[in-house]
Amino acid sequence: MIDYRRLRVALLGAGAVGSQVAALLLKHGDELADRAGASLELVGIAVRDLDAPRETDLPRELFTTDAETLIMGADIVIELMGGIEPARQYLLQAINSGADIVTANKALLATHGPELFDAADQVGAQVYYEAAAAGAIPIIRPLRDSLAGDRVRRIMGIVNGTTNYILDRMDTEGAEFADVLADAQRLGYAESDPTADVEGYDAAQKAAILASLAFHTTVPLDAVHREGITSIDKAMIDSARHAGYVIKLLAVCERLAATTDGADAAGEASASRSAASRPLDDRSRPSGEAISVRVYPALISRDHPLASVHGANNAVFVEAEAAGNLMFYGAGAGGVQTASAVLGDVVSAARRHIAGGVGVGESTLANLPVVPIGHVTTRYQITLEVDDQTGVLATVAGILSDGGVSVATVEQTVVGSGDHDTEDGGVARLVIGTHTAREQDLSDTVDRLAASGVVERVVSVLRVEGE
Ligand code: NAP
Repeated sequence: MIDYRRLRVALLGAGAVGSQVAALLLKHGDELADRAGASLELVGIAVRDLDAPRETDLPRELFTTDAETLIMGADIVIELMGGIEPARQYLLQAINSGADIVTANKALLATHGPELFDAADQVGAQVYYEAAAAGAIPIIRPLRDSLAGDRVRRIMGIVNGTTNYILDRMDTEGAEFADVLADAQRLGYAESDPTADVEGYDAAQKAAILASLAFHTTVPLDAVHREGITSIDKAMIDSARHAGYVIKLLAVCERLAATTDGADAAGEASASRSAASRPLDDRSRPSGEAISVRVYPALISRDHPLASVHGANNAVFVEAEAAGNLMFYGAGAGGVQTASAVLGDVVSAARRHIAGGVGVGESTLANLPVVPIGHVTTRYQITLEVDDQTGVLATVAGILSDGGVSVATVEQTVVGSGDHDTEDGGVARLVIGTHTAREQDLSDTVDRLAASGVVERVVSVLRVEGE
């Protein structure tokens, strides 16, 4: 047996993920030592409650409530507590005491990532977070390392399993949102307070992490446009299916060419850059390019690979200039699945610790501005209820045209019968597919339609992605 150098591993948190990480670390210790070139000794597990039930059988003597003392003696600190504080303080303490850190904490990284990366840079430590964006799916290393020589054009991610589970069941079973959400809560796919998932907060944190890596730019969480899925109903799902689409909550991270919106897009967005991310310095190369990072329910063609992501699975579809299209697919959550990604990070951290030298840092020098949602261009599907009378279609078409929104398809169905005595022609439903339009133009035009007198109700406005 090889006499490896011993590395002390401290674990903060023994919940769904942490308890699995501890169990696998203990079970496969010898194998991991051969891969890492170091013996990984789990020296302690910090928790809040020593008597709380655990999902795996772990030696009681490893548990402590004194996280700070545990961190002081560690070479590698794994943070699986979640939340911002005290996770942030503990990780800064770990970095400053010479440890490499491993975390799956997307909320912390999306809000305090630059602070942690800067602290690590200063002491030559490394921050690993493969599990933070898509659970077990390897996507952080592919973006940070494998694609470092390429230029990512766009990422479209299904990065929240709860919302994908809900939308998928609405699509495949014709169920209503509230019923599926209740089921998801009962089955443990959704929290009792589902806000972080169904309102898109969780996906927005992951989008900020993915965009930062893909575009070598610090993307502050408040620069991510976010919409959830609570307004999606059965009628919208049916209408999408009828038109050959499926509705998915997508995290879209996109590089916008300088010519898309001219210097104005970058100019207007620069406030977001200078206020919230690192300042431009002499090494920055302003290119006129900008990026957009957004989370919303969108229509994608049933032929698109992301349409085949069912249940609580996640997938990240990456479009790169040289590599072309790549899709990363699998379990975006789950204790043991996520533990796989965490342990991969632990092995990487151990290898670097043994090899010595400064680790690979985050590259943020592209420093691209993040444009507001109003500058984004995409296609739309607008569903309206209108008076079923002669000339209404022409009026709607005129308003769209005046607003700079070009119509690609229109489908009209009668949904309410009229009253011959009162000359009430009833209600018709118009489903309008547009060509590419600017979000601000589209939104202004929809406001004008709503106020036009011929539109009874704007039923929905959905973006079409992946075309
Ligand atoms: P969890 O089940 O809620 O477990 C949290 C653990 O942290 C518990 O053991 C808790 O101790 C401990 N803890 C919390 N606050 C603490 C404090 N102040 N001091 C010491 N210990 C503390 O969380 P989880 O689901 O494992 O998630 C952990 C992290 O992984 C989160 O950042 C999450 O976003 C991320 N993540 C989770 C998944 C997943 O599928 N669950 C997937 C990807 C990423 P007690 O047990 O004593 O209460």
